[in-house]
Amino acid sequence: KDSPFFRGCTDTIRYLQDPGYAKMNASFVMLTRNEEISDVLKTMKSIESHFNEWFKYPYVFLNNIAFTDDFKDQVQAATNATVEFGTIDEIVWEFPAEVRDSLQFKTALEDQNDRGIMYGNMESYHKMCRFYSGLFYKHPLVSKYEWYWRIEPDVDFFCDISYDPFFEMAKNNKKYGFTVLITELYWTVPNLFRTTKSFIKKTANLRESLGTLWKLFTFNYNILDTNDEEVSKWVNYFEDVKPKLTEKLMVEFLLENHDNDNYEEDVEGIQYLIERARSKVPLMEDSIEGEEYNMCHFWSNFEIARIDLFDNAIYNAYFKHLEETGGFWKERWGDAPIHSIGLGMILDLEDVHYFRDIGYRHSSLQHCPKNAIQKQESPNKFDKGYEFGCGCRCVCPKNSDDIEDHSTPCMDIFFE
Ligand code: GDP
Ligand code: MN
Repeated sequence: KDSPFFRGCTDTIRYLQDPGYAKMNASFVMLTRNEEISDVLKTMKSIESHFNEWFKYPYVFLNNIAFTDDFKDQVQAATNATVEFGTIDEIVWEFPAEVRDSLQFKTALEDQNDRGIMYGNMESYHKMCRFYSGLFYKHPLVSKYEWYWRIEPDVDFFCDISYDPFFEMAKNNKKYGFTVLITELYWTVPNLFRTTKSFIKKTANLRESLGTLWKLFTFNYNILDTNDEEVSKWVNYFEDVKPKLTEKLMVEFLLENHDNDNYEEDVEGIQYLIERARSKVPLMEDSIEGEEYNMCHFWSNFEIARIDLFDNAIYNAYFKHLEETGGFWKERWGDAPIHSIGLGMILDLEDVHYFRDIGYRHSSLQHCPKNAIQKQESPNKFDKGYEFGCGCRCVCPKNSDDIEDHSTPCMDIFFE
């Protein structure tokens, strides 16, 4: 069940002083260019005044070339929080040399231009999408955090965010949060889903086992029957060793790499639980025949998520597979559909949070919620105890469409 963490405003000063509250290991992340400084400042002004003046989360700015001193000075002057600036290594940012030197590469972008693919012949855009798809979370300035909040130049936040989204996500076991869910332009990703299916088939065993383990260790074994004596024995055993039972160990186990002291015992337990759990988890491979992508994706210019959603064996293998097929330049795969599909292999629906209460605009799409009205103030006398609206001090632009009302069928599917 997913609903806003709060309806309306919380008393932020008291929220921050609550002994149960802890600032999270988190930061804003923005990839941008020196010449976008004025739009960068616009975004910062908005997020600072609606949220970060209270919470003071740090910022990480990334660029494929060095930021100028002028850029850095202006950005630092816009916040009291810590700011770090990183440059992306050329070897990470650029397509591999054998791709760049190929004749196919040169014609592929022109061809996309001829076919009218949005941003199709912009090499930098392809690189940006590739970077955000599989590489941003490995950048040292990003990977040292547990959570990130992606922002972009030219973004408006319409409401006050009077609580800490990172903290509430952690508290409510959420792993990925979004504000806008829309359909992708089909011709930017014609082969993405076919390629995804081939990945699922190729790695079904590894992925399925990892997926099962992931569930076992992050969802408190709720897929298992803990009335079963043997199951509960192993569950108890793992409760004790859980802190040191890392994903790395699980991967090693699956790849049969024997360098752990308690290896034999851990393996016996893992194996038993996987076997028991497998019967309860449908094989994804069986369910993908004939399936097609509905084009729905979380609009990734806004994301609040855990870094380890991406930096794990399944997602990394997925990105590697995508990269090998050349879709980042043969087609114009966006990072948004890739995040959505990739996370679809890892997450359950309950892990995803719709930040309905966060008013947000980027380019021409926006979502702006109604301010929360408490039941005693309800203007409708038949409205017994019903609260509506969820925003806090939202100031929405007049006469503007809300993407929530128009993003059919994605929003309907999600709510359903
Ligand atoms: P759109 O929102 O899909 O139209 O894409 P944008 O042009 O806004 O790009 C997405 C993000 O990546 C923005 O934060 C841009 O500043 C950034 N970006 C895009 N291309 C480049 C690039 O070549 N270099 C750098 N440093 N940032 C880029
Ligand atoms: Mn943008």
